[in-house]
Amino acid sequence: MTQRYDVVVVGGGHNGLVAAAYLARAGRSVLVLERLDRVGGAAISAPPFPGVGARLSRYSYLVSLLPSAIVADLGLRISLRSRAVSSYTPTPRSGAPGGLLVEREPGPATAASFRALTGSDAEFASWSRWYGELAAMAKAVAPTMLSPLPSRDALRSLVVEAAGEPLWRQVFERPIGEAIEETFADDLVRGVVATDALIGTHTSLRSESLLANRCFLYHLIGDGTGEWRVPVGGMGAVSGELARVAREAGATLVTGAEVTAVDADGDSAQVRYVAGDEEVTVAAGHVLAGVAPAVLDRLRGRTSEPPAGAQLKINVLLRKLPRLRSGVDPRVAFAGTFHLDESYVELEDAYRASAAGEVPDPLPGEMYCHTLTDESIVDSGLHTLTLFGLHLPAPLFAADNARLRDTLVDRYVAALNRHLEDPIEDCVATDVDGRPCVEARTPLDLEEELAMPGGHIFHGDLAWPYRTDGTGDWGVATDVPNLLLCGSGATRGGGVSGIAGHNAAMALLT
Ligand SMILES: Cc1cc2nc3c(=O)[nH]c(=O)nc-3n(C[C@H](O)[C@H](O)[C@H](O)COP(=O)(O)OP(=O)(O)OC[C@H]3O[C@@H](n4cnc5c(N)ncnc54)[C@H](O)[C@@H]3O)c2cc1C
Repeated sequence: MTQRYDVVVVGGGHNGLVAAAYLARAGRSVLVLERLDRVGGAAISAPPFPGVGARLSRYSYLVSLLPSAIVADLGLRISLRSRAVSSYTPTPRSGAPGGLLVEREPGPATAASFRALTGSDAEFASWSRWYGELAAMAKAVAPTMLSPLPSRDALRSLVVEAAGEPLWRQVFERPIGEAIEETFADDLVRGVVATDALIGTHTSLRSESLLANRCFLYHLIGDGTGEWRVPVGGMGAVSGELARVAREAGATLVTGAEVTAVDADGDSAQVRYVAGDEEVTVAAGHVLAGVAPAVLDRLRGRTSEPPAGAQLKINVLLRKLPRLRSGVDPRVAFAGTFHLDESYVELEDAYRASAAGEVPDPLPGEMYCHTLTDESIVDSGLHTLTLFGLHLPAPLFAADNARLRDTLVDRYVAALNRHLEDPIEDCVATDVDGRPCVEARTPLDLEEELAMPGGHIFHGDLAWPYRTDGTGDWGVATDVPNLLLCGSGATRGGGVSGIAGHNAAMALLT
């Protein structure tokens, strides 16, 4: 006899788990089907290096977008820790090694760093004013993320009241590059600002599509502050807690269960999956898709153009932190975001080259050392170093994925070494077989491991957080009423936020 559930969730990523937890707590019978042998999707920790005591946030690593309301509702026992530094950007000054430091709460050291870089206080004054306006916008927009979608006019009123009409136009109506160029004069400062518009997003800062604007918006509004914090215990601690509360609420989580077909007609639904040698069909009142929209299309027997991701992720384990040529303490330089070849002009040039099918030169990227904020994920004395490389779209890797992956790792190592007193190779830890603890993931690797089409880390382009045709009240609608999106590809999905999972659950419960 076919088993029946009120809700079947396809994909046990963190969003699927959030949806399952809310629905099970509301008394619904819930089955979550996950193809891998673990839940969490791209929000997990793993010990990638044999014989070495380190559980790294293998894919995603920082949390900003997860609303504290979800943490409180579900009783998640997680801790998100602030980083002392926002960013450090190494750059020569008058021929000598130097850098731009931005503290988490910009104070005298940040002001002095701007002055040394630009020769005046004007750039830091612009920074303080603009980020003040953006903070006001974040406070106004964030609370809307867990409610039915506002109309564009309603969101506009909120933003204009909080931060003024000019800021609305800068963020929502004109290419974000124009605002950055108007507000800042220095190429390096412009670049530090601009990376928030490009993480996981392959576009020009001047594009009329405003894709960079949407990426910028999501990177600035998380939980009303936009602060990116380190999850203590790594990303696995977040997904682990979500799995715990979903199970305790009564949801059934099945791993090693690959869904092969979804059929929903508005009244009822059937989901087919393969677990081991067995093929199973379950019936459901509703199906929630935590998988990417392109994967859902395939499961429904439809075809659609898959998105293309455009990043390289490199995880490195260090036995010591390298000293920098600028003399700045590596515990400061690597505590926040360490920008590598990410000036505004470099970012635009890299986009142009990669859009034309070339590998950019130089390669923009940014690095993070999470163990300076949370050392619980490694054995004593070890440090993690993570690099997120930009503007490396999936098609570049099609000819020879492994070879380009290796080439890029070598090139990023050389780019980093330009700023170091100790070559990074001398600092890398080795595994039990004496191999350097370095792993890299291209968009094609992500597609294979995580079933993220094209390796797109948000399952597709980010959408404005207001109602448009076809979004439905909560931004989770498909063309069939009992089939909803609950993953990153929903309107207001993207990133480790749980928002899409929450909103899909609310679409059923309210
Ligand atoms: C390298 C990288 C770095 C990132 N860094 C950050 C960061 O620092 N901060 C941040 O906020 N975001 C970051 N992101 C983005 C963030 O991780 C994702 O947007 C988020 O994890 C998506 O969650 P999800 O639950 O919607 O989907 P996913 O995590 O993609 O989960 C979907 C699940 O569905 C499963 N699945 C797929 N097909 C099937 C099938 N046929 N049957 C059953 N199960 C299936 C998959 O195995 C997966 O477990 C990063 C992503 C990557 C890849």
